[in-house]
Amino acid sequence: MKTIYMDNNATTMVAPEVFEAVCPFLTERYGNPSSMHSFGGTVARDVRRAREALAHLLGALPQEIVFTSGGTESDNTAILSALATMPERKVIVTTRVEHPAVLNFCKYLARFKGFTVRWLSVDKHGMLDMEEVRNKITDETAIVSVMWANNETGVIFPVHEIAEIAKEHGALMHTDAVQAVGKIAMNLASSNIDFLSLSGHKLHAPKGIGALYIKKGTRFSPFVMGGHQEANRRGGTENVPGIVGLGAAARLALEHFDQENSRVKKMRDRLQQGLLEIVPSARVNGHLESRLPNTLNIGFEFVEGEAILMRMDEKGICASSGSACTSGSLEPSHVLRAMGVPFTAVHGSIRFSLSRYNDEQDIEYVIQELPGIIKFLREMSPFGKESLAAACTAQ
Ligand code: PLP
Repeated sequence: MKTIYMDNNATTMVAPEVFEAVCPFLTERYGNPSSMHSFGGTVARDVRRAREALAHLLGALPQEIVFTSGGTESDNTAILSALATMPERKVIVTTRVEHPAVLNFCKYLARFKGFTVRWLSVDKHGMLDMEEVRNKITDETAIVSVMWANNETGVIFPVHEIAEIAKEHGALMHTDAVQAVGKIAMNLASSNIDFLSLSGHKLHAPKGIGALYIKKGTRFSPFVMGGHQEANRRGGTENVPGIVGLGAAARLALEHFDQENSRVKKMRDRLQQGLLEIVPSARVNGHLESRLPNTLNIGFEFVEGEAILMRMDEKGICASSGSACTSGSLEPSHVLRAMGVPFTAVHGSIRFSLSRYNDEQDIEYVIQELPGIIKFLREMSPFGKESLAAACTAQ
């Protein structure tokens, strides 16, 4: 049975081009880029090229890139750095729908380190209220951390506009762009964003590599301290295979950027339309326009998401019922709850996240298989059957 992988917001396949680029650095080219000999020196050159490629993807300068172990480390580092460099300011402004890498870290800072967190809420479309953003960012704010795009719904936030407001108040702006990089064109040179986090494994590079963009001139205090690597901004011998892989993935993302993203969007839109047409009581979670091209979060009322996932798994379809980090717990998604999605739909919400490696046949297969699965599960559950009948009569 073919695997139809539609869980790319959880992680992506390492691209063949990336694999090829990484291989020599796992075998014969194992030098340490900090070594004085030429065996290490040539590796330093490859690290430099990867930094340049990534900077190019972001519209940034190579020296503004610090390689890290991934999105979580980058998020933690940006927030801690702002708090350390502006000790007179004790307030963090962030949203209720951040990834746990920001959300749980902010909760920790509030609970154990005495900082104040001002939480921004979202509306039923998953969008921020800019009036609330303006009210909550003040001269006491050290850092504003707002994700560029949400991992569960794909909803895109106006991060440049928020960065302007942060700047007016002398606060720093961080954005978790883990899901946005490679899917949204970026030019950080013309933005007031001070910090940006990204992660390799969401863009066809290996796991365990990421980067933090730090705008030139922004004061910085390192989180991981040790040797002088990364211009004293992140200690520890560089993960050279990961860095080279991330550079290759950045080059790949830029190649046919618009064509690939619009092809993926077309497939996502077809999937959405196909499912909404066939399955009764289905609803899209998240803003229909301001959304990543690859993400579809769809709620099937009166049915359990985990049961849908299991049945889809039997058909070779991989999707997700929340973010990878929160599935595994029975807690309903904090993102969908923050949006006020009705209880009956939160539990039956499924996230499909596509990539350049999906094709039209994958989409048609899901449209063919999923409606039957939902129908079967609703018929199995007396609760589902009755509620559905009531919902249909009410419509
Ligand atoms: N931020 C967002 C929006 C994510 O989706 C993820 C991963 O799911 C992370 C941060 C964490 O990244 P990493 O797995 O590289 O630590």
